[in-house]
Amino acid sequence: MSFFINNREFESKEDFIKWGRGCATKIPTPSDILRIDEEIKSSRARAKRFTSLAINVKFIHITDGNKGHVTRRQREEQINVLNNALKGVKLKFQYKEEEVKFENNKSWYYMSHNSPEERHAKSKLSFDSFKYLNFYTGGLGKGLLGWATFPYDLAGDPVMDGVVLLDESLPYGNASPYNLGMTGVHEVCHWLGLFHTFQGGCNGIGDHVADTVSHKGPNYGKPTLGLPHNACDKLKNAPIQNYMNYVDDIWMKNLTIQQEKRIQDHILLYRTEL
Ligand SMILES: [Zn+2]
Repeated sequence: MSFFINNREFESKEDFIKWGRGCATKIPTPSDILRIDEEIKSSRARAKRFTSLAINVKFIHITDGNKGHVTRRQREEQINVLNNALKGVKLKFQYKEEEVKFENNKSWYYMSHNSPEERHAKSKLSFDSFKYLNFYTGGLGKGLLGWATFPYDLAGDPVMDGVVLLDESLPYGNASPYNLGMTGVHEVCHWLGLFHTFQGGCNGIGDHVADTVSHKGPNYGKPTLGLPHNACDKLKNAPIQNYMNYVDDIWMKNLTIQQEKRIQDHILLYRTEL
């Protein structure tokens, strides 16, 4: 029996799960990475302090007529999940129910990453991305769960800024085991400047966060705790419960101190008008 999720056909539910957490957030270029590292360093030298911040979320739900009608209960729970996951960063996410936007457009609903549909949709639907987190949902193409833009790309292309999520990945959606809201957390963390923990594999400086253990590639499912798995240093354990890995939602539980610091640095540098 085939298993369908938003019109993409999988052989079975297992096949969907095995296909993995599809995140299409772009891989940063080496020159971007170097530039950001330099900018963070000089910004830290200016000794700006991060205190706390409320982030206003604008939910924008693209529908195809039938599908995509994300509910109030799902939005509220997604906000709860974000607040819980990012409380160490001292962020508070909030939204206004009366400002939620719905847009019925079948071709936008099935948009893929960097497609003309994505640009058309965002050009029409986005709120001021310097001030708000644009949180789009849709059916998406190619079995993807979502993607995000990085903070350092905001100034050059503000229209595209934000996160795009598979609607069924929000809490109470049907994209199990990715339906507890952790795709939202993962993509928002990209939007706030984090890379995947497996960024760069075992080469170089990985994800540019000193206290995440480098590992060769993504981990999937619910890997056993307390083992190295694919850690580059076999005396250490791969970060299998980190939000920036690819494990199941139920396994995602933490960020490191330096990841939280990196988010604060990025807000102070690139998202100053939030
Ligand atoms: Zn990702």
